[in-house]
Amino acid sequence: MPKKLQSPSGMHDIFGSQYDYFQKVREVVFKNAEIYGFQGIETPVIEDTEIFTRGTGKFTDIVEKEMYTFKTKGGDRVSLRPEGTPPIMRAFIQHGLYTKPQPVKFFYFAPYFRYERPQAGRYRQFWQFGFETIGRGGPVVDTQVIVLVYNILKELGIKNVVTEINSMGDEKCREEYKKALKKHLKKQSSRLCTDCKRRVEKNPLRALDCKKCLEVKAEAPQILDHICKKCCEDFRRVLEFLEEVEIPYDLNPFLVRGLDYYTGVVYEFFARSKKSGEEEFLALGGGGRYDGLSAALGGEERPATGAAMGVERIVLLMKKNGEVYEKEKPRVFIAQLGDLAKKKSLKLFEELKKANIPVAEAFGQDSLKNQMSRAAKLEADIAIIIGKEEAAEDKVILRDMDSGGQEKVKTSEIIKEVKKKLKE
Ligand code: AMP
Repeated sequence: MPKKLQSPSGMHDIFGSQYDYFQKVREVVFKNAEIYGFQGIETPVIEDTEIFTRGTGKFTDIVEKEMYTFKTKGGDRVSLRPEGTPPIMRAFIQHGLYTKPQPVKFFYFAPYFRYERPQAGRYRQFWQFGFETIGRGGPVVDTQVIVLVYNILKELGIKNVVTEINSMGDEKCREEYKKALKKHLKKQSSRLCTDCKRRVEKNPLRALDCKKCLEVKAEAPQILDHICKKCCEDFRRVLEFLEEVEIPYDLNPFLVRGLDYYTGVVYEFFARSKKSGEEEFLALGGGGRYDGLSAALGGEERPATGAAMGVERIVLLMKKNGEVYEKEKPRVFIAQLGDLAKKKSLKLFEELKKANIPVAEAFGQDSLKNQMSRAAKLEADIAIIIGKEEAAEDKVILRDMDSGGQEKVKTSEIIKEVKKKLKE
């Protein structure tokens, strides 16, 4: 027998209850996106690699270590997208969306790819939803994205959300900070891990993300002491707005988000929990302002801000919290016996749908007993049974699944009778 094949390592099929949880997240995201005026966008799964080397940044872990990059048969160098923001900015520039009323607000719900070591909550294909506001900026726009994401998490029942926030300054004032940080890191070089030793020259900010060099990090100069007046003022206003809408936040002077394109405010959402008495923080997503990305991708400088959230991690918490996502329960189940009854059932199913009555069936089943036990399992209120005799008479049996009481009803009267019974 040929060998059974498996999905690629770190990549999963989504079905059953996992699918239902995804669907719930999708529903809440789509609903909120509409309320806040974001339009959907789907970009290709594969992009020119340069979108990420120039956008995300050559010296970031994502681009340096985690990207699936290959040459096409035509010789183009392309990558599976590891994140959503640079492709959306590419689309904004490519389609001249700066000529439309600004800002342009996009949202997405899509799979991304990173060649990471698979473990719980970390996959090679994972899903993110996110929001991007491009073309007009300012603290209130930044705050609105934070509020939107925070509300979505709340609506999905995610508890103990911690929002950490910082400012990375703009490209100019950050350079000042980088110099001070480099100086500090060089002085402490003997205490740095090998990765950070390498980062000092190329990307010193990444040392602030390092989980090993905590002591050197704690003694490092803080970015907020180095950013310019305008960046300080913008940051202060975001905090003020957050207080206004009563969203709690924690200042984290070392939050840098690891990507090149951020300018100004950056933030990250965590879920706090306790494991054997120790506090644990699960990163759910984050975002920030990225005014320089448009220019890095060949466009003009455009203010922009956005956030991306990991769907699998949110689902993990929904399950852990015992947040059971109940699909809409069918109120009516159609059971049938015989060819003519099957035919009539198909039509009846459509009619019930049209009347907005949640309905289920098991047309593939021939045994009435199996169909009725399926109806009971689905907790339907009413079973409509069409046997051979009923089909010939143009009637159906309506069975109350609770009391077991049943009566015969003319086909033309079904919708009216079902509605009446469901109201009782
Ligand atoms: P990032 O784009 O790295 O800021 O990631 C935003 C969020 O996406 C993270 O906080 C995670 O929730 C999720 N995420 C990132 N990488 C992965 C991965 N490899 N597997 C699962 N979720 C991920």
